Amino acid sequence: MEPTMANGSSSDIISWFEDVSENAPSVQTQTLRRILQLNFSVEYLKKWMGEVSIEDMEDEALESLYTSLVPLASHADFEPYVQMIADGEKAALITQEPITTLSLSSGTTDGRQKYVPFTRHSSKTTLQIFKLAAAYRSRIYSIKEGGRILEFIYSSKQFKTKGGITVGTATTHYYASEEFKIKQRETKSYICSPEEVISSGDYKQSTYCHLLLGLYFNDQVEFIASTFAFSIVQSFRSFEESWKDICNDIRDGTLSSKITIPSVRKAVLDIISVPNPSLAKRVISKCVELEEMDWFGLIPKLWPNAKYVYSIMTGSMQHYLTKLRHYAGDLPLVSGDYGSTESWIGVNVDPCCPPEKVSFAVVPTFSYFEFIPLNRSENEDGKSAIDDFIEGDPVPLSNVKIGKQYEIVLTTFTGLYRYRLGDVVEVVGFHRNTPKLNFICRRKLILTVNIDKNTENDLQLVVEKGSKILRKARAELVDFTSHAEVVKNPGHYIIYWEIKGEVEERILEECCREMDASFVDHGYVVSRRSNSIGPLELCIVEKGTFKKIMENFIANGAALSQFKTPRCTSNQVLLRILNLCTIKRFHSTAYGP
Ligand code: AMP
Repeated sequence: MEPTMANGSSSDIISWFEDVSENAPSVQTQTLRRILQLNFSVEYLKKWMGEVSIEDMEDEALESLYTSLVPLASHADFEPYVQMIADGEKAALITQEPITTLSLSSGTTDGRQKYVPFTRHSSKTTLQIFKLAAAYRSRIYSIKEGGRILEFIYSSKQFKTKGGITVGTATTHYYASEEFKIKQRETKSYICSPEEVISSGDYKQSTYCHLLLGLYFNDQVEFIASTFAFSIVQSFRSFEESWKDICNDIRDGTLSSKITIPSVRKAVLDIISVPNPSLAKRVISKCVELEEMDWFGLIPKLWPNAKYVYSIMTGSMQHYLTKLRHYAGDLPLVSGDYGSTESWIGVNVDPCCPPEKVSFAVVPTFSYFEFIPLNRSENEDGKSAIDDFIEGDPVPLSNVKIGKQYEIVLTTFTGLYRYRLGDVVEVVGFHRNTPKLNFICRRKLILTVNIDKNTENDLQLVVEKGSKILRKARAELVDFTSHAEVVKNPGHYIIYWEIKGEVEERILEECCREMDASFVDHGYVVSRRSNSIGPLELCIVEKGTFKKIMENFIANGAALSQFKTPRCTSNQVLLRILNLCTIKRFHSTAYGP
């Protein structure tokens, strides 16, 4: 099945989705049937399914045959096939249609970038989810036709493998696709920045130009967006430092010498070369006021017609919500949709829901989804689970239960079969008959020394408690990560914080104690009491450390649009940066009662 969706008005698109959600279980079986029909003779499927004919098979029999013959798999199982494709192998290995493009996943979640197949289907579904989400948003926030979006987007460089396959991030391929051009043509909002700025390959120059052009068109900007909230926060942090240069450029119709890429200079100067002293004056007087208020309410003040801020604010992005709210003042924050390089998954159908509560309705035409039931292990010997989760048998979308957590398994149109995505989600309800998912965490990102197992989400909650104390002292937690140090005995957790503002040492000691006492994982509590895990260490790193970490990822091919600070790392390069930049260390003392 092509990922068909009604074209046309928002209401057509919404009624299409209401219809597929109503029939989600049968749409899922049709999706599986279509994926198998399209790829029946590929090497991977033949290996597991042999020559079985699925044509006359009933839906239910098809699903059970497929799941009984084809095993659950991880990225490592597909890696040899994907590598052969990258090397130029033309045989139908995982898809019937030749794969000419590979995406690089951000790699910030498990420390390693992965090649993932990208096809026309990938950009079609990207366009679809974009239109679908926009249709739901437009029911609540009406956007002026011909308005603009200040969108902090960045594509990475594309390169060719020795087999001639184009590689880049999924967002980069999408921006280069026909579908992106369709979106630009069909939607009635235009991104402030031209293509040259989006694809400059230098995130600092792109950010400067996004901000400059956003201000140049300030009255026309209808909303502010990025893929992940990190990019918006990062951009406005840099605005706090570069606003004077930007205002000079607006006043004089010039472009700062910091912008060195000729194509970017030309594209931007073509837009802003008429001096606009009155706009510059207005922006300057607002910035002077904003600076005194520590930039609170920057977005509505500088973009008076913006209706909302739209970006992924869940999962590892949740940390940036405090800062985003600070910049957004009373402007609504609309949480972006849920997907991965491998497949789009769910759409936010309740745009007015606060980001902390948002869930995503699974789009049943995008992939065939299965769900591995997970139970958090209560077992303190830790023997029963690989990580802290005990697994049940995978269930189809129609069998998930509200209140339960699952790992998502994907069968995609791009050649991944029963692929464990590694994301943990909770079913919080249904949109008609399709589940609504809360993103919980990445499964593999865990802090563990011995029997303790804390996920990214557990760490997020602990850091939130510690940073409350910091906020009371009028300081701000810029970013954080962690590491389980096991070289010395007993092992212990290290949490790295970059903070903004002056804080007394006794406050930081209190933050450290508070975090140590806030882990609720039984393995941790027992181990701390018996001292088989040592005191928690809080390392304060110097200003700009997390920027260095981001730049390290970007230097290795990641795009800023996709960047997520790893919340737990054992990557030696990152640890070296963190340790070299550590300026203060605190250890929690005795563990509580
Ligand atoms: P990538 O590996 O760069 O393709 O990133 C995809 C991953 O980002 C997903 O598997 C999730 O872990 C995370 N992600 C994507 N969308 C969301 C979202 N809306 N909320 C939380 N995490 C998300």
